Amino acid sequence: MTQHIVDLRSDTMTRPTPTMRDMMAHADVGDDVWHEDPTVARLEASVATLLGFSAALFVPSGTMANQLALLVHCQPGDEVLIAAETHIVHDEAGATAVLVHVQVIEVASSSVFIASRLFSRIRPPDSHGNRTRLLWIENTHNRAGGRLFPPSELVKIVALARANVLPLHIDGARLFNAALAAHLPPATLLSGADSASICLSKGLGAPVGSVLAGTSPFIEKARHWRQRLGGAMRQSGILAAAGLYALDHHIDRLAADHENAHHLAANLAKIPGLTLPTPTIDTNIVLFDLAPKAPDPQTFLARCAKAGILLCPFGTRRIRAVTHLDVNADDCLRAAATIRDALRTY
Ligand SMILES: *Cc1c(COP(=O)(O)O)cnc(C)c1O
Repeated sequence: MTQHIVDLRSDTMTRPTPTMRDMMAHADVGDDVWHEDPTVARLEASVATLLGFSAALFVPSGTMANQLALLVHCQPGDEVLIAAETHIVHDEAGATAVLVHVQVIEVASSSVFIASRLFSRIRPPDSHGNRTRLLWIENTHNRAGGRLFPPSELVKIVALARANVLPLHIDGARLFNAALAAHLPPATLLSGADSASICLSKGLGAPVGSVLAGTSPFIEKARHWRQRLGGAMRQSGILAAAGLYALDHHIDRLAADHENAHHLAANLAKIPGLTLPTPTIDTNIVLFDLAPKAPDPQTFLARCAKAGILLCPFGTRRIRAVTHLDVNADDCLRAAATIRDALRTY
């Protein structure tokens, strides 16, 4: 019998379900560059409404959504203030430097902007200083372990952005996980933001796609940049159909992912040879650090992989496990047992 693989490397590993594939196969399509794809139009309208913005744009990836937001909000040489360890700094191949030409300033050492600390980094107008141009939040924060940006701090950041006439972008690749953890509607977590992006291809389980949302003029500029970057697509309703299906059927079930992550972390906490760096598991990401005397990450990951448990290296001795649509509670129990075995000989 072939071994069942439990792939906890990322929530991007989800495969489209048979029903999702069926929706894709039967999608109504047209040339979206000519604004003639009804399914893309429907997806964009649905996401705009869901997120509380007037317009939205379907793009091939979250990276493109983020870069479009930067390109529209900023001019070359501008400064973007951001919490440390965010996706645009670490996981977008230097696009902020290569494509957008902005300086990204990592303000907070943790995942969470502290409004008071942020305030001191906003530059006053000055002929030889840089221009602070944009505030950027990631919710949930991936590298901090799927951390929810505290809603109370969000309110302060929005007030600060308003007071300083600075736009605020929220990278909501996992916004629906955040909304679930905060017990708030997604639009509430974006209230006061000038633009936001969501990924359909992570926990929501669609094969491809992200959506950028904002005001209509903002989205029209983003559409122009999307064309320039080669991200405009033709009969992309095939892909949008998967996104629409995911929005209808895969948001509520994220609760199961959070529960699985919670149990996984509780089981890992009992294992000698590792420590959990985050005090709580807010959503679907579990980080753990291998103890100094434990095997090196390569050895550890290879042992787990041999037993059918795939995990993601996430720093010198840090490992990430992400729960999603294609792993269940039993898989997480098996993962914890495998991790225990892989560390037994340390
Ligand atoms: C995954 C992710 C993105 C976008 O990723 P793509 O792989 O380009 O779709 C953006 N921000 C965060 C926080 C992410 O986790």
